[in-house]
Amino acid sequence: MLGAIEAGGTKFVCAVGNEDGEILERIQFPTTTPEETIKKVVDFFKDKNIEALGIGSFGPVDLNEQSSTYGYITSTPKKGWTNYNILGELKKHFNIPMRFDTDVNAAALGEATWGAAKGLKSCIYMTVGTGIGAGALVEGELLHGLLHPEMGHIMLKRYPEDDFEGVCPYHKDCFEGMASGPAIEKRWGVKGSELTSDHQAWDMEAYYIAQALVNFVLILSPEKIIIGGGVMKQKQLFPLIHKYLKEFLNGYVVHNNLDENIDEYVVYPALGDNAGICGALALARTAKNI
Ligand code: ADP
Ligand code: ZN
Repeated sequence: MLGAIEAGGTKFVCAVGNEDGEILERIQFPTTTPEETIKKVVDFFKDKNIEALGIGSFGPVDLNEQSSTYGYITSTPKKGWTNYNILGELKKHFNIPMRFDTDVNAAALGEATWGAAKGLKSCIYMTVGTGIGAGALVEGELLHGLLHPEMGHIMLKRYPEDDFEGVCPYHKDCFEGMASGPAIEKRWGVKGSELTSDHQAWDMEAYYIAQALVNFVLILSPEKIIIGGGVMKQKQLFPLIHKYLKEFLNGYVVHNNLDENIDEYVVYPALGDNAGICGALALARTAKNI
């Protein structure tokens, strides 16, 4: 029996599951203070007899095992969670192997283990929701680097005549600032879920997302790109993203997956809304004593 935690800034999901990615029991609750939230986590797992625990967390997080703040949620603006030692707190309660990574890296691993990127050694998992973030599996390993990638904050060129200022508190009109759920809501004055499927918002959204994907393809050359998150419930985005991605690459990178097979190259998560929690389960599968 394995334990999995999807630690989100809005909600926490905890689950027990097995090596095959089957979720046997789950619970979710809103993210409040760290003390209150972690108590609920501990109460859920305490009689479950889990052998290992995987945690996919909102960030930024410290993933460097040599660092004195390894396992911390670091510079988040979320009240109460700044410099919070989430892994250390869990280790106080459970003396079992654990593996800790970002929520999007976990989801990338989950999709590569049981989902759309199964059997592949590389993929990108991106979420377009309240924020935009992406995790990457590269040569079979989750990519960390200096801290960890923050692919949601890249700079993009504007959609013609889009004069929206952007909502990113750090960069205003970065990718997240222009294309996250809150950006859509602020630009159009209503939530994305209330816009019709043929609204211009979606062409614009696909234009921004496809630009980001061009950069990902050019920099990391992933074998699959998976996009989840609330905004991607707008399934009409996919054909638009495929069209723009092809258009922007303009034949420079030659591969069938960027041409005839593009609709199987950029896809919605095969694990659906479970991508995050299954990702944490995939982390648990490969957990070690830390
Ligand atoms: P979070 O990113 O907070 O974990 P979600 O991935 O559900 O959660 O993203 C929430 C964001 O997605 C909100 O900004 C919301 O307006 C937007 N959203 C949710 N459902 C839809 C939908 N069906 N169409 C467009 N936008 C949506
Ligand atoms: Zn930004």
